[in-house]
Amino acid sequence: MTTPVRKLIAGNWKMNGLGVDLLETERLSKALTAEPAHCRVALCPPATLIERMVRELKGGPVEIGGQDCRAEASGAFTGDISAEMLRDAGAHLVILGHSERRTLHHETDVDVAAKVGAALRAALEPVICVGETLAQRKSGDALSVVVRQLRESLPALLAGHRFAVAYEPVWAIGSGLTPTLAEIEEMHRAIRETLEASFAGSGAPILYGGSVKPDNAAQILAVKEVGGALVGGASLKAADFLEIIRAA
Ligand code: PEP
Repeated sequence: MTTPVRKLIAGNWKMNGLGVDLLETERLSKALTAEPAHCRVALCPPATLIERMVRELKGGPVEIGGQDCRAEASGAFTGDISAEMLRDAGAHLVILGHSERRTLHHETDVDVAAKVGAALRAALEPVICVGETLAQRKSGDALSVVVRQLRESLPALLAGHRFAVAYEPVWAIGSGLTPTLAEIEEMHRAIRETLEASFAGSGAPILYGGSVKPDNAAQILAVKEVGGALVGGASLKAADFLEIIRAA
């Protein structure tokens, strides 16, 4: 099995953040610049802030990403944003298939796979999210659900490209609940085996996401095959996010 060397800690701001919040980001960037770069750090603000964040953090260690994109490059899709537009704004990554998109916007694995293709077309690194619901975990179906989601959300054309997978149990997002470390390890192992079967040697990091906080980050990030974290709420405050980064 291939374990990636540098972990990726990515913050998902969701629909939070105004221009004034870039002060926090600058603080984060300054603090990280003064430290050895032991892991990759990314922030995914709302689309309205991407260009400003890119400009203000230019030359620093924080990579910037989008939170979603549409599969098409352009067209009559009011309110949507394409991978090319994210790239044009200076983004280098994009979160795809987040459970909030899958639930609130009814995105299917087929939709997610098409968006992954769009991300590659625009030279963005996709961070592809998968995860089971609480009912699926309780019924003992978590592994099979996540492996199926993963197989169907990853197009074959990913081979040879840089990408990451984020395992985010739906019930752990924003709830303060997390799986046990053994459950995280079991799921990450299953994801690694699935990736190896289709994209042998890619070394794609497998992030854990769902209520990662300063006080549980070190334990979670030390689990075998956990190649980083996707952090929601705790990425909004530079001090908390910094603690998580330092735990990697
Ligand atoms: C997320 O939404 O990707 C997430 C992990 O959120 P939180 O850290 O707030 O649970």
